[in-house]
Amino acid sequence: MSGSDRGAVRVFAEYERDFTEQADVVVVGSGPCGSVVAYELAARGKRVVLLEEGPPFTPQDFELDGAFSMSRTMREAGLRTTRGTVIPTMQAIALGGGSLVNSAICVRPPDFVFEGWEENFEIEGTRRADLDPHFDAVEAFLGIAPTPDEVQGQRNLLFRDGCDALGIDSEPIARNARGCRGSGECFTGCRSRAKQSMDISYLPAAIHAGARVLTSLQVQEVLTEGRRASGVRGQVVEPFSGRRSHRFQIDAKAVVLAAGCMATPILLSKSGNLANRSGQVGRNLQFHPGIAILGVFPEKVDPGFGATQGYQSLAFLREGFKLETLWAPAAVLAVRFPGYGHDLKTRLAEVPYAANWDAIASCHRSLGTVRPKRGASLDPILTWRFHSEDAQVLGGALYQIARIFFAAGARKILPGVYGVPGEIHSIEEADVLRTHRYAPTDFVTASNHAFCTTRMHGDPAKGVVDPRGRAHEMDGLFLVDTGIFPRCTSVNPMFTGMALAHRSAAALADQL
Ligand SMILES: Cc1cc2nc3c(=O)[nH]c(=O)nc-3n(C[C@H](O)[C@H](O)[C@H](O)COP(=O)(O)OP(=O)(O)OC[C@H]3O[C@@H](n4cnc5c(N)ncnc54)[C@H](O)[C@@H]3O)c2cc1C
Ligand code: SF4
Repeated sequence: MSGSDRGAVRVFAEYERDFTEQADVVVVGSGPCGSVVAYELAARGKRVVLLEEGPPFTPQDFELDGAFSMSRTMREAGLRTTRGTVIPTMQAIALGGGSLVNSAICVRPPDFVFEGWEENFEIEGTRRADLDPHFDAVEAFLGIAPTPDEVQGQRNLLFRDGCDALGIDSEPIARNARGCRGSGECFTGCRSRAKQSMDISYLPAAIHAGARVLTSLQVQEVLTEGRRASGVRGQVVEPFSGRRSHRFQIDAKAVVLAAGCMATPILLSKSGNLANRSGQVGRNLQFHPGIAILGVFPEKVDPGFGATQGYQSLAFLREGFKLETLWAPAAVLAVRFPGYGHDLKTRLAEVPYAANWDAIASCHRSLGTVRPKRGASLDPILTWRFHSEDAQVLGGALYQIARIFFAAGARKILPGVYGVPGEIHSIEEADVLRTHRYAPTDFVTASNHAFCTTRMHGDPAKGVVDPRGRAHEMDGLFLVDTGIFPRCTSVNPMFTGMALAHRSAAALADQL
């Protein structure tokens, strides 16, 4: 935050006693969705209080060591996984939520995604054309633009070259970054403050418009009066230790839950199974499971330089996957390397010659749940099953990434998948990736794209909210995080979440 805005963010050291405040709207969660709502309502003259459990981070607080950084910025130190089929999944705990640590990728889903929502979930008025004005508004506010060639670096441009050689459409990724320097550090925090995370974009604007932003506050319960949400209460928590202290209560005319799709269902459950006559709260958990292949080139690639994720191909969206370039700290990438000891050291020495490209898959046959633990913890119990047909989709994506690598001149690839060779040296050898029958457990997959746990549905018996995020069976209660997607977006979710939140804010303002 800039000097003048920073004073308006309340931090842990400033809470000395229990307190109560009043507002028109209390927003829970400062991720991309909550921040848009806070700004839009404050700009319309509403008294907004936004509550965030995590602390603010400045560039001085960012740690380049990937594992150490995760332990500070992510819930459960970044080691959260599902039961059933194990899939690691990260949710941030920080001012700005996921936007502080994400790759800033902003993609509008194609119309067929929204047609699928409409047909399967009785949703009206939520086609791409209906949402485009909201995408436009967020895009203009954040300066979302394609990644310039000067900061792509070799590891991104080689992807473009491989796609060109094969006649596969590809494009520079549009991101919420202004003046990106191609440092590839989005995951541990953008030290040059080019990435327009919420703490330096929507939240300062919300504060400027009169919103109050209070950090280190864990909301534990939504309060109600009859069928109306009337506020929230919880406790001050110390950053990193999570130690709880003073109590607080915010009374408000409306409550907006934007705590993320793994926290909002827990809050509803712990508030007396609120808004859950449909029985859908905490159900339908979906991910975009991701896999990545490391490709090693004959010449140095110097992967340390380049936008974290600079190029993508949307050519296979209808087949169920999206292709992207990706970089992360070597310690995080090494999780997928075969071998250990001397073998592992040899592979690490190849990193300067390497690029890493990934696929994310649309897996709406693979479903899970978010359930509360007993006791005071708000961490969820997650279960998820990877459907065998979805696993074949991911296998198809592996083969396409292999084709692009060899077309770009790679001398070998490391698929990192059980049941296929650890190293593949030619496109002929790579045919095994196309023909192999994959078991869901063959992949070392992960996903930070999660959704659908409080889904919208036109029928109140089958969903938790309507397309504007209004809870079907409560007044004054809006849910706006990615949990309200009825089905995955097939592309990176943040931008869709923000566009929907932008529309929800207008609906809520009309009602106040
Ligand atoms: C490493 C990583 C990279 C990613 N890259 C991209 C990308 O490039 N593009 C993209 O589209 N998506 C990306 N994503 C996903 C994207 O960041 C999320 O989909 C997005 O942040 C979801 O926004 P949200 O507002 O729904 O929730 P969140 O961003 O999760 O924000 C929720 C906030 O609520 C707070 N909160 C939770 N519970 C409470 C409580 N009880 N009291 C108070 N506060 C609470 C949390 O601390 C958090 O700050 C990435 C995610 C990660 C982790
Ligand atoms: S690549 Fe580097 S400079 Fe660009 S947005 Fe990410 S962290 Fe910031």
